[in-house]
Amino acid sequence: MAAARPMTVAYFSMEICLEQAIPTYSGGLGVLAGDTLRSAADLRLPVVAVTLAHRLGYFRQHLDADGGQTEGPAEWRPEERLQAVAQTVTVQVEGRPVVVRAWRYDIRGVSDGVVPVFLLDTRLPENSPYDQTLTDTLYGGDSRYRLCQEVVLGMGGAALLEAMGYGEETQFHINEGHAALLCLHLLERQYAGRQPWEANVGDVEAVARRCIFTTHTPVPAGHDRFAGDLTREVLGERAATLDALQLWEGTELNMTRLALRCSRFINGVALRHQQVSQEMFPEFPIGAITNGVHAVTWTAEPFRQLFDRYFPEWRRDNNYLRYAITIPVEDIRSAHRAAKQAMLDEVERRTGVHLDPRVFTIGFARRATTYKRTDLIFSDLDRLRSIATQVGPIQIVYGGKAHPKDENGKAMIRRIHESARKLGDLVKVVYVENYEMTLGHLLTSGSDVWLNNPMRPLEASGTSGMKSALNGVPSLSVLDGWWIEGCLEGATGWSIGADPGLTVDPTADIPELYYKLERVVLPLFYGMPYKWGEVQRNAIAVNGSFFNTQRMVMQYLQNAWAPGSANEALIAAPTA
Ligand SMILES: *Cc1c(COP(=O)(O)O)cnc(C)c1O
Repeated sequence: MAAARPMTVAYFSMEICLEQAIPTYSGGLGVLAGDTLRSAADLRLPVVAVTLAHRLGYFRQHLDADGGQTEGPAEWRPEERLQAVAQTVTVQVEGRPVVVRAWRYDIRGVSDGVVPVFLLDTRLPENSPYDQTLTDTLYGGDSRYRLCQEVVLGMGGAALLEAMGYGEETQFHINEGHAALLCLHLLERQYAGRQPWEANVGDVEAVARRCIFTTHTPVPAGHDRFAGDLTREVLGERAATLDALQLWEGTELNMTRLALRCSRFINGVALRHQQVSQEMFPEFPIGAITNGVHAVTWTAEPFRQLFDRYFPEWRRDNNYLRYAITIPVEDIRSAHRAAKQAMLDEVERRTGVHLDPRVFTIGFARRATTYKRTDLIFSDLDRLRSIATQVGPIQIVYGGKAHPKDENGKAMIRRIHESARKLGDLVKVVYVENYEMTLGHLLTSGSDVWLNNPMRPLEASGTSGMKSALNGVPSLSVLDGWWIEGCLEGATGWSIGADPGLTVDPTADIPELYYKLERVVLPLFYGMPYKWGEVQRNAIAVNGSFFNTQRMVMQYLQNAWAPGSANEALIAAPTA
């Protein structure tokens, strides 16, 4: 049957970072989703997105003098800003009808492209008090709450799009497993008219022809899964489809597996992450499309002006960033000085700490979670002191929230404060509270080096180093995630240690980090400013021109979204 309307991609994500004033994201996943949609709008692609309203926001972080984190609400009111969608739908949650409405936020591209984002909301008087909270808190509550949320996101979202007139021509992009229940909605539509137990593998294949799945989690423990009993209580009779098609993993519902089974194209978010994912799920063919960031959004004003001067086309076509290789090093250096000063001024305004613009400044900001090893550089304070004294002064700016229930992440923030106190004025360390989009923008553009030392291979991609690359800030990072592809040693930045493949000794990174700082990075920064400027320029021309969401979205278009791009052999029918 010929499609009545042109293809639309419906992009589903539990978190989407829309703008500073709308706190509906917790970290990299949400920023990536927002950047993807911003680039889709720039490219005028037929994309719409679905997420939850998260009325209570992801919390506001407060840190006391010892680095003790407390959380405050980050409430926002969609009705004050957004237009309500006329249609509502009702989904069954634990046997209760829950009414779902949506708010529309339009992402506007560089020209006239628009990507509408629908933020689902159950705060309606016809819902029970509990059900009214289902779209309030991102990654909050217990597993029952989370599963109910995922019913609203996946099944409510798919039903709402249908009610709004999005038909069979719609492709579904499942951004991480949280939205996988949309497959259940599509399966029910597929076998409509027959009984659930009559659903068959052909129905799964038909649904898979319409779904694309991007996985972001390199460890089994990170995948969303729910106990069978809980799932049956929450889904009620809709669990029959899972029974008929054996979509359970043992007795559990594993959202990643559900999405894998029901998608024709599956990808990891960097080459290494693809390999790790392929080992985890050998029965499914997994491709790689490396993440990016939205170039205009994450470029600081001095660099925007510089690029506008040399190749104004860069806003429309990020490939032009490759020509940054022709910008005089002195221009790069002076744009960076301006971006650095803007960051230091804002850090002083927020914390009262004055940092010296002449001093080598390390930036480190990301979610404070154990595998990111935020405090690794403080493993040997004497060594750090001696480097700062003998090679050149160092100062460090931090940002990052720990999830409210992550005691290890919170302890890590306290340890950084303790190390900062011990280092005193010898190595000034500032932890700026409440890391979010604006602060991320400032830190990634204003640091001299962007440090990243996660435990391998747990950084599926990482994107903050891509933001810094756009601003001529080279990375010093372990070879994991995107950096395996982005690191040209000494040219675009530096690795911490060699690439050890898939097996690693995490303690080996500590001496490697000190070695690189002491022998390579600091001597270059203080001793060879022109050469340093060349590294900055390479970061933009080589990495900024590739690790952006415009290139990434074009890859999704060519490999996954566009009609005919789907390799029929990739349809994820079960082979095991
Ligand atoms: C870019 C960004 C992230 C992701 O950083 P990673 O280094 O990929 O972990 C997280 N939070 C905010 C606010 C960001 O801007």
